[in-house]
Amino acid sequence: MVVKSEADILHNSMTEDDPNSNIQFSEGEGKPRWGPQHAGAKELASQYTFGKRIQEIVCLVISLGLMVFNLGQLCWHFDPSNLHYIIICAGLGIITADFCSGVVHWAADTWGSVELPIVGKAFIRPFREHHIDPTAITRHDFVETNGDNFAVTIPFLANMAYHFVTLTPQQIQAEYNWQCFVFLLAIFVSVTNQCHKWSHTYFGLPWYITLLQDCHVILPRKHHRIHHVAPHETYYCITTGWLNYPLECIGFWSRLEAVIEAVTGSKPRSDDLKWATKTH
Ligand SMILES: [Zn+2]
Ligand SMILES: [Zn+2]
Repeated sequence: MVVKSEADILHNSMTEDDPNSNIQFSEGEGKPRWGPQHAGAKELASQYTFGKRIQEIVCLVISLGLMVFNLGQLCWHFDPSNLHYIIICAGLGIITADFCSGVVHWAADTWGSVELPIVGKAFIRPFREHHIDPTAITRHDFVETNGDNFAVTIPFLANMAYHFVTLTPQQIQAEYNWQCFVFLLAIFVSVTNQCHKWSHTYFGLPWYITLLQDCHVILPRKHHRIHHVAPHETYYCITTGWLNYPLECIGFWSRLEAVIEAVTGSKPRSDDLKWATKTH
């Protein structure tokens, strides 16, 4: 099954791998050119505030500290005879992270609007910006790229650290496999947007990152291009992308949207379309 044809991809997305002929196929003058010069992209980029950046830095520091502490504890309590269960739980953690990335990405792309109080500017705005200027993410630094994802992991990592500090060694052994699942889930959730950024980076990537992409350990570039075809209705998983094809085969996202539209009456991606067609 071909999810999007080569022609679909070429005509309805931005040619990020060829910036020298980076011209949106325009059928008529009214169609806005995608990229940093797009009117909507400029307005959205200007809404990244100093306060938001401080919040991101604080969350990054707390999350990284908790990761180091929990990794130390997992190594300290490691039992080699349990290795096969650890590998299974770690794998499930990575798959769950991919699924979560899909659900959050789908929800933010499809519903809500930048005008919503609090979440609109802070969390929905980057998704809108990303569709009309997909290469903006490659110009974001480590903090802007990863701040939100690291923030999400803090409650789970903090709870894990609390368990390591308060439980007896026997109790820790009893829940060790579960903690491996949570730890890998947290690690892959936190690196999701970095993987996503690399999937948009066509120049200057270290060889080992492109090797990981080519082996589909992390989100490959060609694979993610399928999401960036207007109207951005499929391939939402952006950590490893492993679940994109199976979810598409069962029509997971379109069925979910049909149910939500029937219940609430809201049209999927109406805010996204509004920003994409903005001309001034
Ligand atoms: Zn998207
Ligand atoms: Zn993308």
